[in-house]
Amino acid sequence: MSQPLIACESLVRIYQTGSIEVQALQGLDLHIDAGEMVAVVGASGSGKSTLLSILAGIDAPTAGRAHVDGWDLLSMTRGERVRYRRQTVGFVRQQTASNLVPYLTAAQVVDLPMTAAGRPRRERRERVGALLETLGVSDCAQRKPGQMSGGQQQRVAIAVALANEPRVLFADEPTGELDTATSAQVFEALRHVNRELGVTVVVVTHDPEVSGQVERTVAIRDGRTSSEVLRRTATAENGDTHVIAEEYAVMDRAGRVQVPREYREALALTRRVRLALEADHVTIKPDA
Ligand code: ADP
Ligand code: MG
Repeated sequence: MSQPLIACESLVRIYQTGSIEVQALQGLDLHIDAGEMVAVVGASGSGKSTLLSILAGIDAPTAGRAHVDGWDLLSMTRGERVRYRRQTVGFVRQQTASNLVPYLTAAQVVDLPMTAAGRPRRERRERVGALLETLGVSDCAQRKPGQMSGGQQQRVAIAVALANEPRVLFADEPTGELDTATSAQVFEALRHVNRELGVTVVVVTHDPEVSGQVERTVAIRDGRTSSEVLRRTATAENGDTHVIAEEYAVMDRAGRVQVPREYREALALTRRVRLALEADHVTIKPDA
């Protein structure tokens, strides 16, 4: 069995401010294979941004395991973290404005990470042109952020994130500040990057439309992965194709599973339940 590109196990991140402790991630499990495009959904405050900043090498976890493309995110040195951020991952932030630099043109800002990595000038110039073209924003090459629309800014931000050919692109609510039509364009750009360039894409989104378009959606709840929806296209006998979406609960290494609230309420499942092993399934019954 091949190793997943991204593997998080029992990942914990505790923020300490004064005497107050916030457990942003409370033992999160997540595996993502190379080439996948995965949507991450969850209520505000559930830990989505914390997860992405850890995976992008911007923040460090408190405990647990997190590996990306062979890097151990818990034990890497400061120097390794710099290399990891420069070579392995690209990151598009939540706020549109924070991804670009007000006084730099699109061509200049896409060039920046390549200059930092010491790539030769000619190679840089060619790649800037190719990336802006791939993302459909060639016409913005000589424009600064103030002269671009929100959607154009986010597509340039994706080009910046891809400049050094990362294996994974993380995007934290990249369409959060955009209208529906513009969001669709930006999301299409992400799908294009995934399909055509083979970059693994992990995108946090509130948009149900978006999570409806990817093969796998991971739901985070209270700092843990609680469920996943997998979609596949099936062909009926008459040749029609339709999408089948199936929801799965996520089980951690210790065997813990979260039972959805509706199920618990329907059968008044509370502190104790009875488990029974059947031939091909397990039942959970109220403790009556
Ligand atoms: P989401 O992106 O899903 O809205 P976040 O990852 O931003 O959630 O936040 C998860 C929890 O961690 C929240 O309770 C938030 O208030 C807290 N948190 C996030 N960043 C910090 C920080 N730098 N310091 C203290 N608490 C934080
Ligand atoms: Mg967030």
